[in-house]
Amino acid sequence: MYDLLVTGGTVVDPSQGINELLDVAFHNGKVATVGKSIPDSKAMEVVDAHGKYVVPGLIDLHVHNYWGVSHYGIDPDITNISKGVTTAIDAGSAGAATFAAFRKYVLERADTRLYALLNISLTGMISRNIGELEELRYADVGQASRVGNQNRDYIIGIKARLSEDITHEHDTESIKRALEAAQAIGGFVMIHVGNTATPMEKLVELLRPGDVVTHSFHGNKSGILDDAGKVIDSFIDARNRGVVFDVGHGAGSFSFEVAERALADGFYPGNISSDLHVYNVEGPVFDQVTTISKFMWLGMSLYEVIRLTTETTAQTIGRSDKLGTLKPDSIGDAAILSLDCGRFTLTDSVGRSITTSTKLSHVSTIRSGKLYKPWLTARA
Ligand SMILES: [Zn+2]
Repeated sequence: MYDLLVTGGTVVDPSQGINELLDVAFHNGKVATVGKSIPDSKAMEVVDAHGKYVVPGLIDLHVHNYWGVSHYGIDPDITNISKGVTTAIDAGSAGAATFAAFRKYVLERADTRLYALLNISLTGMISRNIGELEELRYADVGQASRVGNQNRDYIIGIKARLSEDITHEHDTESIKRALEAAQAIGGFVMIHVGNTATPMEKLVELLRPGDVVTHSFHGNKSGILDDAGKVIDSFIDARNRGVVFDVGHGAGSFSFEVAERALADGFYPGNISSDLHVYNVEGPVFDQVTTISKFMWLGMSLYEVIRLTTETTAQTIGRSDKLGTLKPDSIGDAAILSLDCGRFTLTDSVGRSITTSTKLSHVSTIRSGKLYKPWLTARA
């Protein structure tokens, strides 16, 4: 007897090349099987997903969930798991000096499966008034490595935000220190670009295969396009050697125009993330399904945008054996989504709005093989 059966939906699981009408059964917190016409009688609970899409639990590579400490922080469960994102990676809200409380009060308590990129700055992202790398003494490799190694169950890499207002002239040195700490913990580096003092291509040159550039399609100073609107060769080279170009939409870091030009040039994102935080959750980002819907408007298929927030994200964080997939025996996380038809306005980070006739929306979430119903678990 299965614990839960989701019937009649279109299953989209790029990790297995699946895109067809199928049922998904869950048992003991894991995916039990994906197959045709599994009888309702074989499960304790049945969810009818006719007319809907059933996908692996979404993974958002870039969020900010250190509520109450980082000025960016929002509650993890309202914006992640309640919107189909079963796994999310906090991108640098905490640094070595502020991580212990992040672990104890946020990471260990959330219903969302959370991981963290430790900020190379000791403070993490505390205040809007002072950039965390203006003072280079905060970029302490020894402390980042120690805290990273002590918390490897949560910390999967190192974050460095490199805009000029955050680092002043320290962008190159900050990347070097982030790489050193990442090396010490065996993780990857994510760099935040846009308005950098050093041209973006010089910074990206320093990255290794598996490192991540977030805010790749920003519309600010020093981006991926040359003056003619073509993608600069060094970014194509970087992508070809395995650097991941992530979206990280954010409040100031995603331009439809830059993305249109890049895609026209064959430069697609290697990952789609939201960068959801206090300053964009009420728009223009709202949530991850809205973010991936923007790439459907840009011409990408539903299958492809799901791939870029499940299979590829799981690979980037080194968890593709258990997450971002509906393979039997993987963690039983899934999202049920609806592709709505109508007239929807979507806005980027530079204020441009487009109108689209289709948009994904969240219907329900399955976490560890159970329908996620936070309003019931309190009484269960
Ligand atoms: Zn961010």
